[in-house]
Amino acid sequence: MVFMGLCKQEGVIFAMIAPYVLSSELMTTLNIDLHTHSCISDGVLTPSQLVTRAAERGVDVLALTDHDDVSGLAQAVEAAHASGLQLISGVEISVTWQSQTLHVVGLRIDSPSAELMAGLAGLRAGRKDRAVRIAAQLQRFGIHDSLAGAWQQTGNPELIGRLHFARFLVASGVCKDVHSVFKRYLSKGKPGYVAHEWATLDEAVGWIRASGGQAVLAHPGRYELGSGKMASLLGLFSELGGAGIEVVTGSHTPDQYLRFARLAQQFKLLGSRGSDFHTPEDSYRDVGRLPQLPAGCTPIWHDWALN
Ligand code: AMP
Ligand code: MN
Ligand code: MN
Ligand code: MN
Repeated sequence: MVFMGLCKQEGVIFAMIAPYVLSSELMTTLNIDLHTHSCISDGVLTPSQLVTRAAERGVDVLALTDHDDVSGLAQAVEAAHASGLQLISGVEISVTWQSQTLHVVGLRIDSPSAELMAGLAGLRAGRKDRAVRIAAQLQRFGIHDSLAGAWQQTGNPELIGRLHFARFLVASGVCKDVHSVFKRYLSKGKPGYVAHEWATLDEAVGWIRASGGQAVLAHPGRYELGSGKMASLLGLFSELGGAGIEVVTGSHTPDQYLRFARLAQQFKLLGSRGSDFHTPEDSYRDVGRLPQLPAGCTPIWHDWALN
C-alpha cells in the first residue's frame, strides 16, 4: 500500500532506485504501533473495534498485546484482513524481578507454545486470587462489594486487573477518574495494593521464544530502577534472549526516547514503538500517534517482511 503511494508520489524514477533505498524508506514511513490493549485485558474496545480505530488513524502495522491473554488475537487478525492493516500477534506478560513488577511484550507469537498458554493461564489464575485480596483490603477501608463491581467492568471472564477495580471506583463515585484511584488506593503502598508474584523474567522470555516470538521490555522508563539496576536488568534481559526494549512508548518523555535509544544501542537491543493504548478517553497516547524512533536505534521490525 505504502509502496504504491511512494511510487505515485515519486514517479517511475523512484521505483528504479535500488531496493535497499525503498525498504529503508518503508521502514521509516510505515505507521507502526506495537503495544495496544483490548477488552480481553484492561482496554475497553473489542479487538475488532481496536483494529478499526487503528486503521482509521492510518496505522499500517498494529500489535495487539493484551495482558496475560492471547484470546483476542483471532478476532483481531480477522478484522485486520478486512481493514487492510497488518496485525502482529502479541501479548504483555506480567513479571516479577527483584521485587519489581515488569512487563515484557511478546511480538510475533504466531504459534503460541504450550508453555506460553500454560504460563498465561497461571498468571490469570493468580490475578483472580489477587482480586479477592484487593477487595478484602478495600473492604477494610470502607469500600464494599468491589470484587463483584470490578468483575462487572471486565470484558473477559478470565482476566481481572487493577484497572477494572479503578473503573468500578469511578463508576460508584468514590474517585473522579482512574488516575486518582491509582493514586489513592491501588499504587504500591496504598490501601488497596497487594503484593503479588508474577512470572519470572526467565519464564516470560522463554515462553515468548518457544512461541517463535521476540521479547521486548515494555516501557522501561516506568520502573523505579536506578541506572545501575537498569543496566543489570538490560544485561540480563539480553542474556536471556530478549530482543528489544520500548524506546518510544506512550508514557515516555522525549528525553526518555533518547535515553532508552542509547541504552538499546549499548546493550545491543532493538528499539520498539507502541502507544500502550487502552481507551479512547484516558490513554497516554491514541493508537498510532507516536513519533519515529530516534536515529541510530535499530527498529525491532527491521527484518520483518512488511508490506
Ligand atoms: P495490573 O496488571 O492488574 O496490576 O494493572 C496494571 C495496569 O493498570 C496497567 O497496565 C495500566 O493499564 C493500569 N495502570 C497502572 N497505573 C495506572 C495509573 N496511574 N493510572 C491509570 N492506569 C494505571
Ligand atoms: Mn493495562
Ligand atoms: Mn505495561
Ligand atoms: Mn500495556
